[in-house]
This record gives sequence, structure tokens and C-alpha cells, in this order.
Amino acid sequence: MKMTRIWGVLLLAGMAACKSVQPAATPVAQSTKLIPHGAGWAALWQQQSGEYKALCLQAYQLAALRLDQYLAQKGAKPLAVVTDIDETVLDNSPYSVHQALNDRGYDEKSWSEWTAKAAADTVPGAPNFFKYAASKGVQVFYITNRSESERAATLKNLQRYNFPFADDQHLMLKTTTSGKEGRRQQVLQQFDIVMLFGDNLSDFSNIFDKKPYQERNAAALKSAPEYGSRFIVLPNPMYGDWEGAIYNFQYKLTDHQKDSIMQSVLKNY
Ligand SMILES: [Mg+2]
Repeated sequence: MKMTRIWGVLLLAGMAACKSVQPAATPVAQSTKLIPHGAGWAALWQQQSGEYKALCLQAYQLAALRLDQYLAQKGAKPLAVVTDIDETVLDNSPYSVHQALNDRGYDEKSWSEWTAKAAADTVPGAPNFFKYAASKGVQVFYITNRSESERAATLKNLQRYNFPFADDQHLMLKTTTSGKEGRRQQVLQQFDIVMLFGDNLSDFSNIFDKKPYQERNAAALKSAPEYGSRFIVLPNPMYGDWEGAIYNFQYKLTDHQKDSIMQSVLKNY
């Protein structure tokens, strides 16, 4: 694909050289630089770098130490941890690879075809941590923006790796809103949430929901004391609200339009 593009550029350059000084009548179609192939590069890193594995293990090993601290402080209600699923406990990088190699970005249909396979591997460290939490009497709630139609396959995928509390009661799917605050409040009615796990800042607090990227970044810095404490953050360079925030969550823009906006915020020299 890259070679095709290079040949295309060479061909266009050759054509331009053969022409005389006449200005081009029609602009050459602009190519995208970041979308949709950026996610393929990110998925390569997620799949094949030791650094990705190390970061995830670092997050979950620190989480276990923190959990021990929280267990020593008995609260009024039973304890729970809340976790996101995608890129927090399950690794969907094969989906990003599949889409990128087909010159496509995310779409709901292809995503649900992938999740229906229940074939996602685990994020390193996640199964051990959540089993440890369960062994200490801490309940695990999975708050995800997967949809109701993905329920059975999602549970099957989690159960395949013996994730604790992988049942209907603990799986809270997206209903009317992608915002997770309502679902966190539901858990809080009966439990003290000691820690939250996610790859997307909205997995932790609604202060990050649907904010333009500059505000989102400012809010991220303000929450510094929470990371590695109550908030355990996993890496995901493939997708997330960080990306949507850059083009102001205008998901219906074309890849070309999104790509232009993304290029406009890159810091170059
Ligand atoms: Mg996620």
C-alpha cells in the first residue's frame, strides 16, 4: 500500500515535470497522512513492543499495592473496583490492524463483527489483578461502551480468561449515553469504589467528558494526584476520546477532513 502511494507520487511528479508551465487545472486529490493508517502503527506497537507490556504490568502491579492500602482502611460499604473493558482488560489491536490494512477506520458494523468472535486477548497484568481483587472480597464492575447486542460475546470473551464477576450483574453496557457517570453512580449506591481502571479519561470522571482537546489536556494535568492512586491508566494510542476531542467529536467528518484537522494540531519545527 505504501509502495503504491510512493509510485503514485512519483508518477504525479513525473507528469508534472513533463507538462510545461501551465498551472494545474484540477488540484491533485490530497492524501491523508494519519488516518486511517496511524492506528495500524499504534497497533503494531501494542502487539509487538515489550514497552507496551511493561507499561501494562507496571499499571497493574502498582494497582495491587494500592489495593492493599485501601483494604486496610475499612469503609461503611463493601468495596468494588470499576474497570473499562477495551484496551483496559481486553486487547483489540487485531481489529485496528484489520481496518488499517483495509484502508478503513472504525465503524460499528466491522467492530461488532470483531467482538462477536470473542477472540480478544487480555491486556498484560489484568487477569491477575482482578483475580487478586476478587480473592480479597472486592467486587469488579465492568463499565463499557460496548452495546447490549455485544453482551453475550463480551461475557464469553471475559470468561475465557476467567475474569471474576464476568456476569450480567457486573457488566454495565452502554444504554442511552456513552458517559459513564450514571453507571458509576449506580455502583456507588451499594459499594465504595476504591479504584477505577481505563485507557480513556472518561473511564475515571465526567470532568473529561466531551471536552475540546485543550481543556481535556488541562483537566488531565489537574488530576495528577489521582494517577497511580485511585485512577489506573492503561496505554491506548490506537483510538479514544483523545482522538475525537481533536476534531471536536464530529465523527461524521470524512477521514480526509479529520486528517486535516489532526495535521493542523501537530507540533512541527
Ligand atoms: Mg477502553
